[in-house]
Amino acid sequence: MLLDELRDYNSSLLQTSLFKDYCPNGVQVEGRAEVGRIATGVTASQHVLDAAIAWGADAILVHHGYFWRNEDPAITGIKKKRIAQLLHNDVSLLAYHLPLDAHPELGNNARLGKVLGLVEQGRFGEQNIAWSGMLSQPRTLAQFIRQITHDLQRAPQVIGDGSKEIRKVAWCSGGAQGYFEEAVAQGADAYITGEISEQNYHLANETGVAFIAAGHHATERFGIQALGEHLAKRFNLEHRFFDQDNPV
Ligand SMILES: [Zn+2]
Repeated sequence: MLLDELRDYNSSLLQTSLFKDYCPNGVQVEGRAEVGRIATGVTASQHVLDAAIAWGADAILVHHGYFWRNEDPAITGIKKKRIAQLLHNDVSLLAYHLPLDAHPELGNNARLGKVLGLVEQGRFGEQNIAWSGMLSQPRTLAQFIRQITHDLQRAPQVIGDGSKEIRKVAWCSGGAQGYFEEAVAQGADAYITGEISEQNYHLANETGVAFIAAGHHATERFGIQALGEHLAKRFNLEHRFFDQDNPV
């Protein structure tokens, strides 16, 4: 298919124009016009670029691309190296950030909820990006943590009492520790996100609402893979997901 078709399809699928985001969504670096092989990854790191280009990708789709608001716009250092490699190999980089977190079927939060067996009940937070719902059956925090460790293949950092019964759960993938207060206000028994900040400890401790930092990377592996699989099926493309072990 043509890169332009892929770009337009993704824009309408993910409704990218509806989001206020911290980075451009869509084609960030333009490569060859024809696309047959798409690579996906959480972050457009050097590791992901090397692996995807070695595999022969025409386009690389990621959740975390480049050109973040507030970063130095100069193309120097590692940014120069990464962008030069893409341009030299004529490989496109497409990035989908908040629109990919939010998508009701392919998004990070939709997929994270599905993996963990959470039944969605509502949304909250800025641009309705965070989700709330119920565990399909109540269990103790300790049991739920064992399940999360198994499903995400990573032990989360947890602030909470292991014997507490968990029914209502709020979640938002990535660096969404700023929504913890809203999750508490929603009446959640536990809040799951990727990262934790110092003040989250005290709020968890003093409210009794469990805080589960399950990994920024670990909670954001699902959306971009789901998008890649969807595109591969729909347009008969070859797709491969390139993971990178990231403890954060
Ligand atoms: Zn993220």
